[in-house]
Amino acid sequence: MKRTLLSAAMLASCSLPSFAADLKATLAPTIHQLMPQVIDWRRDIHTHPELSNSEVRTSKLVADELKALGLEVRTGIAHHGVVGILKGGQPGPVVALRADMDALPVKEQTGLPFASKVTATFNGEQVGVMHACGHDAHTAILLGVAKALSSIRAQIPGTVMFVFQPAEEGAPPGEEGGAALMLKEGVFNNPKPDAIFGLHVWPMEAGKIYVRPEGTMAASDRFEVHIKGKQTHGSSPWRGVDPITVTGSMIEALELIPSRQVDVTQAPAVISIGQVKSGIRFNIIPDDATLVGTIRTFDEGMRQDIINKMQRTVTHVAQATGATATLSVKSGAAVTWNDAKLTDWAAPTLAWAAGKEGVGTIKPITGAEDFSYFQQKVPGVFFFLGVAPDGVPLDQVAANHSPHFIVNEKGLENGVRALSGLALDYLQSHQKS
Ligand SMILES: [Zn+2]
Ligand SMILES: [Zn+2]
Repeated sequence: MKRTLLSAAMLASCSLPSFAADLKATLAPTIHQLMPQVIDWRRDIHTHPELSNSEVRTSKLVADELKALGLEVRTGIAHHGVVGILKGGQPGPVVALRADMDALPVKEQTGLPFASKVTATFNGEQVGVMHACGHDAHTAILLGVAKALSSIRAQIPGTVMFVFQPAEEGAPPGEEGGAALMLKEGVFNNPKPDAIFGLHVWPMEAGKIYVRPEGTMAASDRFEVHIKGKQTHGSSPWRGVDPITVTGSMIEALELIPSRQVDVTQAPAVISIGQVKSGIRFNIIPDDATLVGTIRTFDEGMRQDIINKMQRTVTHVAQATGATATLSVKSGAAVTWNDAKLTDWAAPTLAWAAGKEGVGTIKPITGAEDFSYFQQKVPGVFFFLGVAPDGVPLDQVAANHSPHFIVNEKGLENGVRALSGLALDYLQSHQKS
């Protein structure tokens, strides 16, 4: 498998692209002036977080702002998704920019003056709700981009599609949602974008941008193994088939797949088992047992290979003990796969946005993103924007999903610059002749 890396030499050699330099130069002061409003939006959304598939208020705020800018606005996509279409004054291609809008069942402990006090019911429990993944910042940044680009609409050679996506963190059990549902409902049918860009705030140096070609975030699959034994008295196990002892062999055998059976020089892979469920009483060997876990991979071929090997393992380990077992796998996100050519192409624009010294590479991240589903339809680049608080050593900064996660708002301007710049440069440099 070919792996290209954004080399330091390549970044150092980046020069500003001439094609859209003028438009970007026009935009830079506009963006700077917009930042207090971006921060106001971000704090407002932060104070009013909404769980996945419940983004009613956020969705309305976004739709109202986009309508006020004169964009064509579509609402109610994948429940609360919103799409704004900005048709430029000149003909040209279509570029999509995406932000996610949902929050998490986390009780905020940042002590910020605009901290969330919101509670909601999640999985039948009363929980605090917090923008602990920074999607409030993503939404505010993209609104800023929409406002900035609207100000030069007449000069834009093509169409910008603003995708405000709900339920990135995953729809509640039994519901559909997120990027997959937006695509299923035809979000890319009319117009079909030629490329898509998106970002995620990350606990790294504020304002810096980090990017990686090809496998960037992992594919995430949830799996369940159901082991069927034969219930009997704990005093006489030979009269039944003990599914609990099978779970022991099964866990060990499954862990041997990433550690012994895949080429780790190709890409990393993880299998983790997070739940083991079986039994009711100390002297009853139960009838069945269940293992629940996650698979993380960076290559679709390797992902399929691992699932096939898990299937083989589950069947044969159970068979060896007289039990039976079934494996089910549900995809949570595909590999966030940055198109290598487009990532190379984006480097000068990102360097314009954050400065040549402000762009770096990032190691693969075993977290997952459903932005990956958009990238399966059109080439895309997903990058990271540093928002770590000042004065805290980076290894001590609270990570995304922590109740202490804080977005350093100083970093947001480079996010608005990066997405605005990518949209403009893409449209100008991909004119169809
Ligand atoms: Zn998250
Ligand atoms: Zn996130």
